Amino acid sequence: MTAITEALRRLPKVELHCHVEGTMRPSTVVELASKNEIELPTSDPTQLYRYTSLDTFLEIFWLVQSVLGDGDDWARLAYESAVDGAEHGLVYRESFFTPARHLDAGQDLGDIVAGLAEGCVAAEEATGVRIMLIADIDRAYGPGPGLEMVQRLVELRRANAPGTDRVLGIGLDSTELGVDPTDFAPAFELAGRSGLRRTSHQGEVTPPTTIRAGVDVLGCERIDHGLSLLDDPELTQRFVDERIPLTVCPNSNIRIANAYPRLELHPYARMRELGLLATLNTDDPALTDLDLTYEYRSVMDAFGYTWDDMVTIALDGVEGSWLDPTDAGALRARITADADQLASSLATG
Ligand SMILES: [Zn+2]
Repeated sequence: MTAITEALRRLPKVELHCHVEGTMRPSTVVELASKNEIELPTSDPTQLYRYTSLDTFLEIFWLVQSVLGDGDDWARLAYESAVDGAEHGLVYRESFFTPARHLDAGQDLGDIVAGLAEGCVAAEEATGVRIMLIADIDRAYGPGPGLEMVQRLVELRRANAPGTDRVLGIGLDSTELGVDPTDFAPAFELAGRSGLRRTSHQGEVTPPTTIRAGVDVLGCERIDHGLSLLDDPELTQRFVDERIPLTVCPNSNIRIANAYPRLELHPYARMRELGLLATLNTDDPALTDLDLTYEYRSVMDAFGYTWDDMVTIALDGVEGSWLDPTDAGALRARITADADQLASSLATG
């Protein structure tokens, strides 16, 4: 590993767009599938993650989700996810989980959240990485189950159920095409009224009208992906002026959505040039053979960024986060101090 790659690995990093299911180690998929008697198309972990488009990717994603049978499985997933992130300098993550299919199969949201939180606590003790949670509505299941999930979440929070203090807000993911995001307005309204933060996947493969609906109708404070934003200059300017964060996942857009043939053609650099708060994230790192070190290094190379540019990107992750001002300030100070130290080691090394 070159000195700059090692420095990027050690740079403390924040991640705002990462699905816990998408971090599952292939070996864990195989073990949990056998525990829960789920049939896999192959028992060779290296052959599991194969797909050619967003839709075939989602089939694999759903398969991975299906091996999570109980709270212990969720705890294991959350733990391994954080430990694997820590290897690549992750210090804070607001992590998605998407429980629609499990709720549909009879699992209780309370058990899922408690399990995830248990794994997060154990990982925090082992590595110092702090993981908070965002409960994603799965668009494919429709607005009804989405609203029910939020209702149950609100109920659990009121009852102070274990782990619910770790759930910061809600999101909206899965299939974009053919789904009107405004159908999910009641779920988002309830979340907003109940003090939950709001974000949603928009504009990965849909036009900027869905991004506008995300902020104006769903009340989202940030947008996940938002690739088509630049097609609407007026909306782009509003995102710049209001510092509405985008959680961008350049390598995922290439590997999952096949949106661009190579990284150099991704709009990430253009987004940042325009002054957008475009954060850098991995989305589903295990399923796409990615990690935060590679994400930072490849983006640095593709767009000719300097070390200082990469530190600014890391700090933008803090600005885009839902940390309270005190914790955000402390994290910013930590990133800056570590970055200075890494920079001087690069200069002398
Ligand atoms: Zn995503």
